[in-house]
Amino acid sequence: MKQTEMAPVKVILMRSTTEESFKGDILPARSKLYGQPPCEPGTVWTESLTSYLSRLAGLHHISPQHLVAQEIVPHLKQNYSRQHLSTFSWSTAMSVNGNGSQAAEWAKILERLTRRSDLCFLTLQWWMGDLPPHKLLREKPAWCPSCYAEWKAQGMPIYEPLLWIFPPVTICPKHLCHLAEHCPGCGKRQPFIRGQVALDQCVRCKTWLGSPISPLVSPNPEIIEWQKWAIHTLDELHSAATVSPLPSWEQFFTNLSNCCEAKGDQSKLAELTGLARGQLATWLRRSHTPTLGSILELCYVCNVTPLQILLGDLAPLKQVIAQGKPHRLPRARRLRRTFDREHCLERIQAILGGREEPIGYATLARQLGYSQQVLRYHFPQECAELSKQIKKYRRQWAEQRIEGIREEVRQAVLELHAQGVYPSHRMVRKQLAHPTLLRHPEASASRLALCRDLGWI
Ligand SMILES: [Zn+2]
Ligand SMILES: [Zn+2]
Repeated sequence: MKQTEMAPVKVILMRSTTEESFKGDILPARSKLYGQPPCEPGTVWTESLTSYLSRLAGLHHISPQHLVAQEIVPHLKQNYSRQHLSTFSWSTAMSVNGNGSQAAEWAKILERLTRRSDLCFLTLQWWMGDLPPHKLLREKPAWCPSCYAEWKAQGMPIYEPLLWIFPPVTICPKHLCHLAEHCPGCGKRQPFIRGQVALDQCVRCKTWLGSPISPLVSPNPEIIEWQKWAIHTLDELHSAATVSPLPSWEQFFTNLSNCCEAKGDQSKLAELTGLARGQLATWLRRSHTPTLGSILELCYVCNVTPLQILLGDLAPLKQVIAQGKPHRLPRARRLRRTFDREHCLERIQAILGGREEPIGYATLARQLGYSQQVLRYHFPQECAELSKQIKKYRRQWAEQRIEGIREEVRQAVLELHAQGVYPSHRMVRKQLAHPTLLRHPEASASRLALCRDLGWI
């Protein structure tokens, strides 16, 4: 890593927030970085480690990627070049929030730098224990636009709760709106470690990712019930894991297997949870570990929680198997059965009629809880129109954006010119709200053209 190319992080020598107050002539411990407290510790809304890192970088007035390059990378076992770090930020950085060794390593380094002892709780180690990481974490961040809007309006810190990282969590339990995964401006996804400070701003086009009004979840009460149940269950696991480490998830499968001891029980459980018998057998044989989503689905149908099975409270599950009747139908069957044509059409018409933000049919299908194929099957014409509309919207948006960039550069150049200062690349960059704007070829060309017109070159 070429550290000489980067401005050094301003070293803050400050009194630790976690240390006992200064007594007598003993010097208090100092931390290299601010020991700011994490958001909502100890609750289901607890902050994620990458979010904490972003806010910490903000306090030091540098970008999160820069903070990582300068303060974290030198202490890591694996060395990252600058290029490698950028790729990592966009690809596998979610594992910093996970339950593996990487998350533990990053948390420990940050705890040392901030002299805090509670940053390990911002990873899934203290939430999901040793559950295998396959599909445990979203690959790219998701966020609730209404939460961002609410926090901003109340002057509260903008952060990413760890809860949003679970793939089965698709709605915000506070606002009952869908978590967003794409920027409303350019449609792009965001990285977990940003090249900029603001968490609620698109890293590509700077569009604000919040929105006071987000489309509500389909009125289909089953989706809301499922989501509320899933979040309640995750909350239960979180509360248990923060008191004492969870038992190994191997115990979960041993206990599940113990519930299927009698002849035919395994088939019964597979049937009532909507699993293929062979699939359940691979879980119980331990030749395959299901994802967190599959575990939650199984428990939801049987109306037991993963924690109950993990801790060996097996009577409720045994009762469900003995009765051979699920509390709820498996989700896949319920969704197939209850395609809400009217509500789908209502949303499509609202989007095409401009009463809702334009989105593509793939995003709409995800929001409605159906597959793209199902939505296209029922509304082929409308889906084609949605695609056309979103493409046109993005094209117009990109044009407006380029116009905005040109105008911002023009103002900066004219201001410098009026002061008799040569509008060099460096000087113009300083004037801009986002210095990275000048990397845009249109911005650079605009500056040169104006300099020529003004007689500077
Ligand atoms: Zn929300
Ligand atoms: Zn964007």
